[in-house]
Amino acid sequence: MWADDEYDQPKPAGTGAVRVRVPAKVNLHLGVGEVRPDNYHELQTVYHAISLFDEVTARPGDTLALTMAGEGAGELALDDSNLVLRAARALAEHADVPAHARLHLRKQIPLAGGLAGGSADAAATLVACDALWDLGLSREELAGLAAGLGADVPFLIYGGTALGIGRGEQVSPVLARPGVWHWVVGFHDGGLATPEVYQELDRLRAADAAPAPLPEPAGLLAALRQRDPEVLGAALGNDLAAAARSLRPELSAVLAAGEAAGALAGLISGSGPTCVFLARHAEHAAEVAAALTGAEVCRAVRTCHGPVPGARVQH
Ligand code: ATP
Repeated sequence: MWADDEYDQPKPAGTGAVRVRVPAKVNLHLGVGEVRPDNYHELQTVYHAISLFDEVTARPGDTLALTMAGEGAGELALDDSNLVLRAARALAEHADVPAHARLHLRKQIPLAGGLAGGSADAAATLVACDALWDLGLSREELAGLAAGLGADVPFLIYGGTALGIGRGEQVSPVLARPGVWHWVVGFHDGGLATPEVYQELDRLRAADAAPAPLPEPAGLLAALRQRDPEVLGAALGNDLAAAARSLRPELSAVLAAGEAAGALAGLISGSGPTCVFLARHAEHAAEVAAALTGAEVCRAVRTCHGPVPGARVQH
């Protein structure tokens, strides 16, 4: 089990280097509506950035190059399919500058975990290369570019807690009382491909022949203003949960173990398979994490807090 903030210590990035830290996201609410003409589902979601971080370091170079360490190293392609390189090229094209940088990605966010790690890396790269190339783009301009890279990328430029509509790319901050929420995050062996989880949802819905109403998450937004963890726990929800459980039935045991460990509520994060559990306070989170570790249903367990800011240069 890793302690919360273990990776929070700033380290020098080296001469001419820009180091950007970016959080993972969980969806406190994920309402999935009808399939749109462009084949995306209409979403109403509440994003929440948690203290589980990837890091992108950008250094001057004569070409565009990417190396990586951590979660997914040896598994994740470092070619042009990687969102880090796609983000760097998109920014260079937008600003009409050569895409020259030596990029290093340090990953803690698991691959295909439902925590938007790839989107986080794209957001971090936009912020890092903007600083490396001295472009001075505003956060709004970066978020505009981010939307072309993926629906979750704009949120990870901003961080915090935000409502996402459309494909999730149209974000606006949520009014909430200041303060932090405490979470326990359970990593699962192997990922789930997001498109497959949406397909499974469509299959389950077709079987039910039920329409998919998409109301505003009024209960969750009220709970965030109220600041009572019990109330927030009761308001969490994810329309993709049934599909993720259908593809990965053992997630039911993970959620049950979190509840048995004393969590206020458990939630599959996004398209899964990562599960997150709400705790009353930091000490309670540590207790829940220890009990969940003991249940041996997760690859790794860690404590986190949120909300935290989005992609930011570390000085
Ligand atoms: P989301 O919830 O945003 O759909 P996720 O959290 O389930 O995604 P990610 O780790 O963000 O999953 O990435 C999903 C896929 O994106 C990976 O399996 C990989 O093929 C591709 N990808 C491209 N670049 C990256 C990157 N830098 N980090 C992670 N995945 C990447």
